[in-house]
Amino acid sequence: MTQLSLGPDPRTETLRRLQPLLVQRFGHIQRAAAEWRAPEWVLVQGVIGARTKSEVSNSATDRLLKRYGNWESVATAPLAQLQDALSSQTYPNIAAERLKASLTDLIARRGSVDLSHLQGMGTQDAMDWLEQLPGVGRKIAAGVMNASTLDRPVLVLDSHHRRILQRMGLVPAKADTARAYAAIMPVMPPEWCAADYDEHHLLMKKVGQTWCRPTRPDCANCVAQSLCETGRGAKDAEVSPTS
Ligand code: SF4
Repeated sequence: MTQLSLGPDPRTETLRRLQPLLVQRFGHIQRAAAEWRAPEWVLVQGVIGARTKSEVSNSATDRLLKRYGNWESVATAPLAQLQDALSSQTYPNIAAERLKASLTDLIARRGSVDLSHLQGMGTQDAMDWLEQLPGVGRKIAAGVMNASTLDRPVLVLDSHHRRILQRMGLVPAKADTARAYAAIMPVMPPEWCAADYDEHHLLMKKVGQTWCRPTRPDCANCVAQSLCETGRGAKDAEVSPTS
């Protein structure tokens, strides 16, 4: 029996067309400096980073490493001291507890805070391995795989990015992060490398901060409007005659 080809998913083309529009508006985004791309550094930055601006978490991660000298010493530091050291984070107590738990578990599994074994693993297996660590979910695991020197084409989804994909009609409207990830990964442009994924995520965050805010999205000014289900709906509503 002949199988009908469904052809390429139109969402792939939408993503391809969206990226240059975002670059045109915000410019290219440089990848992080080498000292911020060690997998262990990216892991710590993610674990302490809940609801905190990236710049703040970057500085806090640097301060921790400078103060304690290595991640093993961070793991054995008293919890109250870590809470104090993480006072710049939005939730310092939770950040300290998660950090201590994840580093302690990593040391128990590997003997030290060392993620070099992920280099030899397939991307999905490596993400599954990371997600066993306390406090490490899909977003942090994806961040370690993509933004670090592991350099894998994996999409990092935070709440901004997920919200935009939902409004654009690229993932189901009520998808949680895991479902959104499962829906979008198969339609990502196959020619995109890890750096393209990283840049795409950082540009989408800017869309979320600039126009596609949690409430009252500013579709009329958004560069993604023509590619976006919600944006097109808003435009149609504007031009429809009122009764
Ligand atoms: S057009 Fe509106 S809903 Fe779509 S991405 Fe832009 S701000 Fe968000």
